[in-house]
Amino acid sequence: MNLLKKGNRLTIVVPCYNEEAVLPETVEQLTQILDNLIKANKVAPESRILFVNDGSKDKTWSLVEAYSHQIPQVTGLKFSRNFGHQNALLAGMTIAVKYSDMIITIDADLQDDVNAIPKMVNEYYAGFDVVYGVRNNRDTDSTFKRNTALLFYKIMGQLGVEMVPNSADYRLLSKRATESLLAFKERNLFLRGMVPLVGYPSTKVFYARKERYAGTSKYPLKKMIKFALDGITSFSTVPIRLIMNLGIVLVFVGIGLFIYTLVQKARGVVITGWSSLMTSIWVVGGVQLICTSMIGEYVGKIFTEVKQRPRYTIEEETYTASFKPDNS
Ligand code: UDP
Ligand code: MG
Repeated sequence: MNLLKKGNRLTIVVPCYNEEAVLPETVEQLTQILDNLIKANKVAPESRILFVNDGSKDKTWSLVEAYSHQIPQVTGLKFSRNFGHQNALLAGMTIAVKYSDMIITIDADLQDDVNAIPKMVNEYYAGFDVVYGVRNNRDTDSTFKRNTALLFYKIMGQLGVEMVPNSADYRLLSKRATESLLAFKERNLFLRGMVPLVGYPSTKVFYARKERYAGTSKYPLKKMIKFALDGITSFSTVPIRLIMNLGIVLVFVGIGLFIYTLVQKARGVVITGWSSLMTSIWVVGGVQLICTSMIGEYVGKIFTEVKQRPRYTIEEETYTASFKPDNS
């Protein structure tokens, strides 16, 4: 292992939204892991854990603050309101990248096995810039979540979006991989689709996904569907092309029907029109609505992108200060 040539400062970025129930245990487990890594000389003592408080309404932030006074490695960043999981990850990486040689992102709820962290670090020293945490079972997810997730990866694959199946936002990125990722300027963030685009040598570390340690999921069905749709429309214009094909097929059907009508008229059968007319009105109307709304989806994306709004607002942050010498 080449510790000398490679930088060894690690930052673990943890997005938190209303996680007061699980936070004490998360702090405990992550500090333990980080301490062991520091003691084993695998990572520098300047390594940190950075909790990104994504506008929690509970005591998450006061807990993070309290822990950051007790434990030197624990730091925090507070959003001025809820900006969402993906933005929390991005903000954490943005401020950590300057002081880190590698960044690991992990959910606060301990569903992802923290013991994979040392394995990820090993892979980093083995020369990989991107190390995906991949769950080798989904037993703890509901059948519904498992199947919808599977379907989602399949659709994404067919749409030509390269993703690592069964990997979420638990991964290690080297400094240069993080910098490349941060160069992506889009507002509609879908990090797990963006990371493979960065390139660089990558590998996987497998772990068993657990139940949430405490608290409830912050991703209700509605948020999940939005996230999935965002993923598809941020990465692929295949739906637009599908609509065009559908349009072409419909034109041919229309021509066929026209000929059929002429034939019927020539044969003198005229009253047959009602049902086919009603059907066409409804079918074509429906198809048009779907198509328009799908195009609207992309126009909406362009709308949010061109506004170039800031992706998040940081209200408070103790990470940077933890590296400065204390002058007081
Ligand atoms: N999260 C966040 N902002 C949000 C929603 C979620 O920062 O608006 C965090 C949350 O605290 C957790 C991670 O994102 O650390 C994943 O959320 P959760 O575990 O609830 O999702 P699930 O595992 O149920 O899909
Ligand atoms: Mg979870």
